[in-house]
Amino acid sequence: EGARILVSACLLGEPVRYDAGHKRLLDERLAHWRMEGRLVPVCPEVAAGLPTPRPAAEILGGSGVDVLAGRAHLVTQEGDDPTDAFRRGAELALAIAQRHHCRLALLTEGSPSCGSSTIYDGNLQGVKRPGEGVTTALLRAHGITVYSPDQLDELTQHLERL
Ligand code: SF4
Repeated sequence: EGARILVSACLLGEPVRYDAGHKRLLDERLAHWRMEGRLVPVCPEVAAGLPTPRPAAEILGGSGVDVLAGRAHLVTQEGDDPTDAFRRGAELALAIAQRHHCRLALLTEGSPSCGSSTIYDGNLQGVKRPGEGVTTALLRAHGITVYSPDQLDELTQHLERL
């Protein structure tokens, strides 16, 4: 049986984003892995029970690792603090990854849950900053390698080494 890959559900076309849209990734390799039964889809935010659509959220005061350490938190345009839900979503995504023995993940860039090298700066003005989402930080802390959609070459090479 081939190695499994945890994947953001929105990359598979599921309309689970905050705006009820998706980020379908059209790539033959992804279609092939899906056919092989390698893909384990998860949306951490939906898994945590957040509604769709939901207010756009950003991490204020740091990156995913800082949220996990209690040094940063989530904010929304509506003034909510959905930090607990984001942490719970990360834990549920990790549990699913571990159940399926995923050592690799392919997660949506820019998201406060799934981002792997870019997030937003917490001022809710659409300004990006380097950083990772809460789920990405927790997966990485447990030895799972997280790739973004523009790193499919690297993911493919990693998969071939497993
Ligand atoms: Fe996609 Fe992740 Fe956002 Fe869910 S939390 S919509 S999987 S980027």
